Amino acid sequence: DADRAERAARTRADPPPRGFGEAMIQAREVRKSFGDTEVLRGIDLTVRQGEVVALLGPSGSGKSTLLRTLNHLEGLNGGSVLIGDTPVGYDLRGNELAEREVARQRVAAGVGMVFQTFNLFHHLTARENIAAPLRWVHGWSAADATARADELLDQVGMADRADALPRQLSGGQQQRVGIARALAARPAVLLLDEPTSALDPERVAEVLQVITALARDGGLTMVIATHQLRFAREVADRVVFMAGGVVVEEGLADDVIGHPVQEATRRFVRAMD
Ligand code: ADP
Ligand code: MG
Repeated sequence: DADRAERAARTRADPPPRGFGEAMIQAREVRKSFGDTEVLRGIDLTVRQGEVVALLGPSGSGKSTLLRTLNHLEGLNGGSVLIGDTPVGYDLRGNELAEREVARQRVAAGVGMVFQTFNLFHHLTARENIAAPLRWVHGWSAADATARADELLDQVGMADRADALPRQLSGGQQQRVGIARALAARPAVLLLDEPTSALDPERVAEVLQVITALARDGGLTMVIATHQLRFAREVADRVVFMAGGVVVEEGLADDVIGHPVQEATRRFVRAMD
């Protein structure tokens, strides 16, 4: 039995299935501490162009922190992250850059982020939430930004609520605007941090549907932290299971969720199903 487990674990260390492009995200030995607490304790993660990775793990395991380090919303205490060939947040000597320069790099590298609590601008309409960053950050004209916002609102089924303020929208609708905003500048990489965990249960499906459609369209490289196992199994090419700031187990979604090898993964899958 131990032999079989060891064989299975070895199988999972194999590279992901062929057919994906070049490495879009390369995290090496990533370490992050808050005060005396080391939250990421040496994370290695490679995600290839077009690959969809589900990031699973109990609360506090470091999923949000990892996603935030990938686009330098948090600095690193060790290791390195490349998005494409850009070390976002650092110059070639490894010195940390000023926020304005980091923002420029995120744009150049093409990283979009969807947050657990939406993070919409409260005083802007749905349309303006999408159009404004295109103008401010990406330098688009007002007309182009508005046209792109309307196109995206249509794509996420929100065309009829373009003029609504966030507080006039349900959580599911707000998150669909959040996804549209993250897609606005056509990012190569989309990071989603538990996009449905702040929603009422009856609003989860509409958001998962939008994300599933994006994943199926292909082309976009995605990392999705989620507790929705069925969804992860459906959309993810690969599952990475974290606990205590390390990657405990990773592999094909059906293997890791259907037949977890590590005790921590088993416990998690049992609790969530
Ligand atoms: P997850 O997303 O898997 O629930 P997090 O990355 O949010 O995990 O958190 C991992 C650990 O880091 C938790 O113990 C959390 O309390 C801690 N943590 C996260 N962000 C901060 C912060 N800004 N300051 C201090 N501790 C933090
Ligand atoms: Mg989190």
